[in-house]
Amino acid sequence: MSLLVIGTVAFDAIETPFGKTDKIVGGAATYISLAASYFTKNINLVSVVGDDFPNATIKLLQNHHVNTDGLQVLKGQKTFFWAGKYHNDLNTRDTITTELNVLENFNPIVLESYQDCEFLMLGNLVPKVQQQVIGQLKKRPKLIVLDTMNFWMDIALNDLLQTIALVDVLTINDAEARQLSGEYSLVKAAKKILNMGPKYLIIKKGEHGALLFNKDDVFYAPALPLEEVFDPTGAGDSFAGGFIGYLAQSKDISFDNMKRAIIFGSAMASFCVEKFGTEKLIGLTQEQVDMRVQQFVDLVQFDITLV
Ligand code: AMP
Repeated sequence: MSLLVIGTVAFDAIETPFGKTDKIVGGAATYISLAASYFTKNINLVSVVGDDFPNATIKLLQNHHVNTDGLQVLKGQKTFFWAGKYHNDLNTRDTITTELNVLENFNPIVLESYQDCEFLMLGNLVPKVQQQVIGQLKKRPKLIVLDTMNFWMDIALNDLLQTIALVDVLTINDAEARQLSGEYSLVKAAKKILNMGPKYLIIKKGEHGALLFNKDDVFYAPALPLEEVFDPTGAGDSFAGGFIGYLAQSKDISFDNMKRAIIFGSAMASFCVEKFGTEKLIGLTQEQVDMRVQQFVDLVQFDITLV
């Protein structure tokens, strides 16, 4: 039984009010896998990079229990590259560059040894490629979670709608929920999006937490108020990695357990933003993760007796 992760493995260049990086390692699948590795030790990766990608990072992923046999390294080609610049509030950003490079003709291959997958995390990637991965699985996983972004809504909406119809959980941010549904109210947006196919919708609201919807219920998880946020890149992916990693470990996909999973996801996102790139997600201890989750519990626990 395992967690299958797909998504970009990438180079990013990031600018925030606190600094600027040259090309550093990023990518949706990188953040997801690292965050999930604190909950499950059986992670299989499907992605693609060029031969400009550092071997040391592939080794690092392996040290975090990620099987990289499904990571294609294409000779003479360049890794996907994204550059983004954050506004002063750090909740919004502009994409400066998206160079698809190896993604342009990516043909994902789900290895035979990956077929036992019970949990599938479709990280941010070309929607058609996400669909191809679902199509290659001989048995439908217990849970399929999809993450995407406005970029794909802008250039591949029809493909994206087809992918959305195939999954159990969709995670997007508030601006993307509004763009996808054409509704300003997030409650109305959720209703419309749930009609597109998924049973659950998670709307991420950056420093304002995240909402989990299904047809009948809604749950809200806060984000941890942090003294210093350096770089929000990968927060959404770290959230997704913690969320599905926890579900894969506990093997319980009830709404109640998803509430817990959202807290674990939020905890991983809170680590991610404290340093640039993936730095903070590397080499955390179990004790650090547990203490962070406890901070979330303390943050929202209160007693009310209604008479
Ligand atoms: P997040 O901040 O969680 O939305 O994710 C940021 C990561 O997504 C970065 O490391 C980028 O490499 C990656 N990324 C940016 N644009 C795209 C895209 N269009 N498709 C897939 N991954 C992307």
